[in-house]
Amino acid sequence: MTHIFFDLDHTLWDFEANSKSTLVELADEYLAPKGILLEEFFPIYKDINAALWKRWSMNDIDQVTLRVSRFALTLEALKKPDAVLADELSVQYLKRAPFKTQLMPGALEILDYLSPKYPLHLITNGFKDAAEVKLKSTPLGSYFQEVIVSEVFGVQKPHPSIFQFSLEKTGANLEKAWMIGDNLDADVRGPITAGWNAIYYNHFQQPKPEDIPFEIHHLLELKKFF
Ligand SMILES: [Mg+2]
Repeated sequence: MTHIFFDLDHTLWDFEANSKSTLVELADEYLAPKGILLEEFFPIYKDINAALWKRWSMNDIDQVTLRVSRFALTLEALKKPDAVLADELSVQYLKRAPFKTQLMPGALEILDYLSPKYPLHLITNGFKDAAEVKLKSTPLGSYFQEVIVSEVFGVQKPHPSIFQFSLEKTGANLEKAWMIGDNLDADVRGPITAGWNAIYYNHFQQPKPEDIPFEIHHLLELKKFF
């Protein structure tokens, strides 16, 4: 039987929108009183955050460093270094962001379509607490039989061992396991290397690399596959 595994952030849970709405709140409460505008803060934060996530995914920095540095480095780039404020922003961001509920377009519709037909599971790179809150705060939590979180397993996608572990945990067969996600390495090349099938969720309509077999631009296009 076909088992379908979804990525969570940027694939079902709209990370960009939820992150932005959290930062809008924090800007009102913490940045505005210090004379910092979200319009100047956000573009710098976005680049710094992306660079730090990349380093975290390569095990170059740990999660604590990632969580605080993205705010500390942004404040430094704005010539307003403030370690206390960076700590507070980090704490508040982590507390609030997972409770945001914006999902990617078509997310619930495609899960409603797939869930009566196939066992659905999640494989997410990230933190256990945050993943649990996201699943409880949105309707997403009710669709998945198994939720595999890299922090709990100890290894992240695209390492083959997390895909092997996911097969064992779900009883899925290699040839009938499908991974769907937005990250070319973590969600597509990783599972394909492990012998799975994979579909690239190319939400931003980037050029599709030649080695990637399947892509969709909208989640509802999955109906063509399943
Ligand atoms: Mg993702």
